[in-house]
Amino acid sequence: MSTLNPQLQSIFDEVLRRNAGELEFHQAVREVFDSLGPVVEKHPEYLEASIIQRICEPERQIIFRVPWVDDSGTVQINRGFRVQFNSALGPYKGGLRFHPSVYLGIVKFLGFEQIFKNSLTGMPIGGAKGGSDFDPKGRSDAEVMRFCQSMMTELHRHIGEYTDVPAGDIGVGGRELGYLFGHYKRLTNKYESGVLTGKGITWGGSRVRKEATGYGTVFFVDEVLRSHGDSFDGKRVVVSGSGNVAIYAIEKVHDLGGTVVACSDSSGFVVDEDGIDLALLKEVKEDRRARLSEYAEARDVPLTSNGSIWDVPCDVALPCATENELSEQDAVSLVKNGVRIVAEGANMPTTPGGIKAFKEAGVLFAPGKAANAGGVATSALEMQQNASRDSWTAEHTEARLAEIMRDIHHSCAETAEEYGAPGDYVLGANIAGFTRVADAMLAMGVI
Ligand code: NDP
Repeated sequence: MSTLNPQLQSIFDEVLRRNAGELEFHQAVREVFDSLGPVVEKHPEYLEASIIQRICEPERQIIFRVPWVDDSGTVQINRGFRVQFNSALGPYKGGLRFHPSVYLGIVKFLGFEQIFKNSLTGMPIGGAKGGSDFDPKGRSDAEVMRFCQSMMTELHRHIGEYTDVPAGDIGVGGRELGYLFGHYKRLTNKYESGVLTGKGITWGGSRVRKEATGYGTVFFVDEVLRSHGDSFDGKRVVVSGSGNVAIYAIEKVHDLGGTVVACSDSSGFVVDEDGIDLALLKEVKEDRRARLSEYAEARDVPLTSNGSIWDVPCDVALPCATENELSEQDAVSLVKNGVRIVAEGANMPTTPGGIKAFKEAGVLFAPGKAANAGGVATSALEMQQNASRDSWTAEHTEARLAEIMRDIHHSCAETAEEYGAPGDYVLGANIAGFTRVADAMLAMGVI
């Protein structure tokens, strides 16, 4: 971490004081603040209007009880969250996460990141995030449905096409979004397609939304490679996770001529030197909702549960599982084994020590708010299709996604150059994302 200028330091101290114990939120704020020094020097008006203090304070935070009945007839209680962080650029937008680790600090870190990510897409969407400490793993479809219905019973009061548009995240995929949308429709008696994104294709979803985050991350890396006169051809790639983002990142790497040799879930990782068998991985993870050990068994490769996937040598590393999954030690190991590019498919998967190690080693490092923005950008395309009651082809939607990722890469690279740090995608993404939101907030007065 760099030393902050005194004004930013005092704002940061206040963020720590007002949000005690929310470690992931502190980390996300600090990462942005580390880039803002030169911005506030050039634009003192942001400090004069307290834009930075306001950006760190969510516009609204909702926490609620989610009671539901499990298959044995027992009442279960979970906690639901929706943090509506910033609506300067458009309706609040960001996913819902269902995972036992969810608490306010996680939701706020994700919501904060989302403000700048959504800004970088250039689309009219504000930042939000939500979720619950509910664990869908091992639950029957009926239990998941009852939980989603109870969640929506409260959530529906706070969302809407022009207000707040949730989507999926960890633990929330097509099944959960279907139950959530069905219950919203029933409660409101409206077929308001634009209230949620990530819907099924036959009921208002967008083609390529499911693939968009993973594809987008790979498109971003492709731009990085192109800008260095290189391509994916023959590249050895490691992808962590085996969920929505990871699966479609693997698919696009293979399409572009690279080979993904390792992937993981929370029980361990597999190395498959012939390249991950994507059809099998989809069957295990998407159809059977099973553990990676079933992939390992079917392919006759070991599942390593007491090591780090980041010890597997590669040219390109794509962390696509969860926050803080790539430590400083992992980064050092990747560097030692020759990694050249790291792009975050997940949100904040690299620890601050890891980012520093990559920077010092000259590794090209693409932060999540730029590299994984293709998911939310395609959600915004879904909203466009819903508003015009249209449905685009996969070819058209994927071409739009690729164009958006090119623009994001360009804007990060150009901003980094403008601020005298060519190739620093972290600085470029933070400043470009921040500036668009800050200017909109300035224009709208003190709200
Ligand atoms: P999924 O639930 O589909 O997949 C998550 C994957 O990460 C699973 O393989 C899971 O393993 C693994 N994982 C989750 N938590 C942990 C943990 N604590 N330790 C180790 N492994 C873990 O989620 P997504 O693919 O949708 O999301 C992955 C990341 O991408 C998250 O950071 C999310 O915020 C981010 N993201 C997602 C977007 C989207 O469109 N879905 C958009 C932008 C960012 P297991 O099954 O064993 O739990």
